[in-house]
This record gives sequence, structure tokens and C-alpha cells, in this order.
Amino acid sequence: MAITPLMPVYPRSEVRPVRGDGAYLYGENGEKYLDFAAGIAVNILGHGHPHLTKAIQEQAATLMHVSNLYGSPQGESFAKRLTDLTFADTVFFTNSGVEAIECAIKTARRYHYAKGNPHKHTLITFKQAFHGRTMAAISATDQPKMIDGFAPLLEGFKVGEFDNLESAKALMDENTAGFLLEPVQGEGGIRPASKEFLQGLRDLCDEHDLMLVFDEVQTGVARTGHLYAYQYYGVTPDIMSSAKGIGGGFPMGACLASEKAAAGMVIGTHGSTYGGNPLAMAAGEAVFDIVANEDFLAQVRSTGERLRSALEQMIPNHDHIFESVRGLGLMLGIKMKTDSRAFVAYLRTRGILTVSAGDNVVRVLPPLNIEEQHIREFVDGLSAAASAYEVPEAA
Ligand SMILES: *Cc1c(COP(=O)(O)O)cnc(C)c1O
Repeated sequence: MAITPLMPVYPRSEVRPVRGDGAYLYGENGEKYLDFAAGIAVNILGHGHPHLTKAIQEQAATLMHVSNLYGSPQGESFAKRLTDLTFADTVFFTNSGVEAIECAIKTARRYHYAKGNPHKHTLITFKQAFHGRTMAAISATDQPKMIDGFAPLLEGFKVGEFDNLESAKALMDENTAGFLLEPVQGEGGIRPASKEFLQGLRDLCDEHDLMLVFDEVQTGVARTGHLYAYQYYGVTPDIMSSAKGIGGGFPMGACLASEKAAAGMVIGTHGSTYGGNPLAMAAGEAVFDIVANEDFLAQVRSTGERLRSALEQMIPNHDHIFESVRGLGLMLGIKMKTDSRAFVAYLRTRGILTVSAGDNVVRVLPPLNIEEQHIREFVDGLSAAASAYEVPEAA
């Protein structure tokens, strides 16, 4: 048999981490890596954070899982915290980002169904979007690498041009349920939407009674220097997905909605065996203990500005490969003039972990609690790597 025991759907790199400590990962043979990938924007407190680790250990020993057949003091408490801190009035807990998207799509459709408009089932989504890998989430994109071979896709999605209000408007018809988008596209290459675009979609939703759904799986939980990116933009969604950083490494997600938007989500309409179990809630609470306050958010913003300006100063020295820096807070992208994937692979060989994204972008997604020394180590390491890098010849 040639197939590997781990289904070979990932091009896994040579990095084989077995231990983490703060902003560093250690491989099987003791190799040390500066982790500015953070599990793809997940390990927002770094590795082995004492408060998070202790909360998970204590909860694991107390009560891990009971199912949603019973009352959940832990879920009530964390949901209350989320609703107090956001636009939302209600929360459904999931185990991943894509399940939060599934819940968001179902909530949007159900809103119109409950109002007697079941034909309003189509969400307008946007090019280069990434919403996860379930059938519904891949149906929301038009990218061949995600959808090839999985037809028939789910109906009820149309794909417009990102950050182009006219394109969104042109796709609207009597079946439109709303819009689904990332306020800053992550996998697509760290592309922040303009405020005008998001406000324009909000206005269309208000005018036509549609649902504005923000996918904040990557942008959420302080990544941009705001608890959620919509708060930075000042444009409020009706429904929002959150995951990645929310558990600091513990797998969980959440679908948040206003009371109005969740009108159709009544008993029996949705569910999850694990969703919101006490262990996940303990992880979420511990993360929020640390990040959900103005001091921490201000710290992320200033760290993001320092990292960004250090990168901007360094880039002109290597303008044969680097073009520019973009992003918000500690969700940064370096636009490359050469293949970003190859450069990310080269950085790994020099002990620096980043993530490549669409549009030839190197994603820089460090833990949110990094310090000055980590910024310097990263920027110096990147600069040295750029000097030594031999640009592969175009295929
Ligand atoms: C990662 C991501 C998802 C999918 O999350 P999973 O936990 O992998 O299911 C969805 N939307 C966005 C914007 C993401 O970055």
C-alpha cells in the first residue's frame, strides 16, 4: 500500500513539532522555530500559556463533556460574555470554524424562511474567499482547488468581486438572502475590505432586509487589535462566525447572531454533540480572560504597528523579492514579487514559521503576546533569509 495512514490531503512540511513554549516550537530532534504562524492564527497566547493550560487541566479533571441534553452553566457563562462584548444576542458553539460557518448559513436561510420568504436562500460571497472545507463552505467559493471533484455543490451561492460594491449589487435578485464575507480576507492573501464596501453592504441589507454575515474565524478574537474586526470598521453584521483564536489552540468555534437574525433558530433546528462542552468553554473563558480588555487590544495594535513598520523599513533592502506589507493588527501579509510558497518553505529551513496565502503573500500571524525581542528576531531573520535566498527560476 502506498497511501499513508494519515490521509495525504496536506503537503506536510519537514517541520515536526513535538513541544511548544511561548512563541517557539521545538521539533522531534530539538530544532527550534520562531512560530509566526501560530497554528494558522490559532495559538494567540503562544504555546503552553500558564493560564490557558491550567484552565484546561482543571476543567478536564472536573467535567469534560456531557452533551447538550443538559443545562450548561459553562456555556451560559461564556455565551453571556460574548454577547456582552459584541453586537450579538445569542451564540451557538461549534468545534471548528467551518461549523460556525454552517450555522451562519443555516441561520441566514432560516431567517427568511421564518419570515415566510423561503425563496430568499442565496448568499452572495466573494472571490478569493475561504470559509472552510465542508460542502456548504466550498460551495460558497469558486476556487477550483477547493471544489474540483466534489460536484454537485450546494445551491444558493453567487460569487462577486471582493471590495466591489457594484459587483455585489449586480448579483442581487429576489432570491438573495444576504452577503457572506471575511472583513479581511485571510487565505486569499490578507486583503482588508474598505470601510465603504462593508458599509455599502450594510446599507443594502438594511434597505432590502438581508443578512450581513461576517466570517471572523481568522480576523476575530483580538487578531486585528480589536476583539472583532467589525468593531474596527464600525459596521455591524447580523451573524458572525468565530473560531481559530477563540480557544487559543483548543478546537472550538462560535456562531453569533442578533436576536432578529436568529429568529428562525428554534428548538430542533440545529445541534452538535460536542459543541460548547465544559472543556471548550473553560478554554474560551481563559482566552477571553487575557485578551478581552482594552489594555491587551491596545498592546496588539501597538505590537502590530511596530512589526509592520520594522517590516516596511526592511523591505526596500530586498526589493527584488518583497513588494509591500498589508493587513491589520497582527494579521499581516508580505506581498512577494516571487512565489510566496517557495519563500515560506525556505524560511522554515532557517527556523522561521509563517504561512503562505493567495496572491503570493507570506502571512505573518504571530501569537498576540509577542514582545520586542520576537519582532527583532523575526525581522532580522527575514532580512538575512532574503539576502541569502536564491529566487527559484520561474517554472
Ligand atoms: C480557517 C478558516 C475557516 C475554517 O475554519 P476550520 O476551523 O478550519 O474549519 C473559515 N473561515 C475563515 C475565514 C478561516 O480563516
